Amino acid sequence: MKIAVLPGDGIGPEITAQAVRVINALGLGIEMSQAPVGGAAYDQAGDPLPAATIELCERSDAILFGSVGGPQYDTLPRPMRPEQGLLRLRKHFDLYANLRPAIVYPELAHASSLKSEIVAGLDLLIIRELTSDIYFGQPRGVRINESGEREGFDTMRYTESEIRRIAITAFQAARGRSRKVCSVDKANVLETTQFWRDVVTDVHKDFADIELSHMYVDNAAMQLVRNPRQFDVIVTGNMFGDILSDEASMLTGSIGMLPSASINAKGFGLYEPIHGSAPDIAGKRIANPLATILSAAMLLRHSLGQEAPARRVEAAVRKVLAHGFRTADITEPGCKQVDTVAMGDAVLAAL
Ligand code: NAD
Repeated sequence: MKIAVLPGDGIGPEITAQAVRVINALGLGIEMSQAPVGGAAYDQAGDPLPAATIELCERSDAILFGSVGGPQYDTLPRPMRPEQGLLRLRKHFDLYANLRPAIVYPELAHASSLKSEIVAGLDLLIIRELTSDIYFGQPRGVRINESGEREGFDTMRYTESEIRRIAITAFQAARGRSRKVCSVDKANVLETTQFWRDVVTDVHKDFADIELSHMYVDNAAMQLVRNPRQFDVIVTGNMFGDILSDEASMLTGSIGMLPSASINAKGFGLYEPIHGSAPDIAGKRIANPLATILSAAMLLRHSLGQEAPARRVEAAVRKVLAHGFRTADITEPGCKQVDTVAMGDAVLAAL
């Protein structure tokens, strides 16, 4: 089993270092090699995704990714910007399924902007299609219309195979959870999403053990803040998923706790925390490494088939929270505030 570790910029190297320690401590003999990506790669090789980094990823079973970006790169020409490193990896490996869990740990329920009785115990998985929809559909642009006025336009489109594969990902993921999938669309208005609903319903015939429901996106946005615990797995297209997954992450109130996965049809995936490179705290040793450690758990589960070790890591994170360990971003009176490395130590001890 081989993992390509791409620490990236800002707090990326600090947080991935802790996840690497945790993976090593599992004693599974996993081989890990590092390569630069983002601004760090631009500095070293003049390219946010050098050929050697892609080659390392191709020789690996999965990518553990830190984060990319920083103010010093904001004025570079677009193809040289750090985020291109990530976007090109997604495209190169056809990482079409974006998995974003939103979990509210009992000890952190107070950090949510919603009342803790609404979010306590929330364990939701949003599966967003990542490579199609209105974000990639052609034609698109700004043109002069028949009335001589300028107009902007984009094209929403989904092929049947694109919908089938993301629906299968969702039903399979639900099998390891509460066996409930809610497909979110706007079938009352958009032809593309009526088609989405029809195809998801058809794929469901092969997953009789899973309960499938459908919901319009406006209602889903409302239900996520009204009663988020009604959901187990939500599957949706690229644009609706972009918005709903950010909304869901805020239910938890702690950006430093949330992992994500982007996977392809072969199970190869890129695993990263949902937060960015946090330049404001980079190098201060205070970043929360738990989102990256939980991303490593997702990597073990989805790309390496190591369900039991994945659960061990997740249980260790629950334990350190229960024992009162907190990094600065989630600290509260009466807790043991620790730095990035000491949080890694605490997870290792809990393992
Ligand atoms: P951010 O997520 O980096 O930071 C937002 C706030 O959350 C900051 O105050 C930061 O200190 C805090 N924060 C984030 N992660 C934390 C952690 N693990 N522990 C403690 N606090 C944490 O978002 P931003 O400030 O909007 O963006 C900073 C840079 O990151 C930009 O260059 C942006 O383009 C990039 N970015 C990269 C990714 C990615 O690599 N996937 C995603 C989002 C943003």
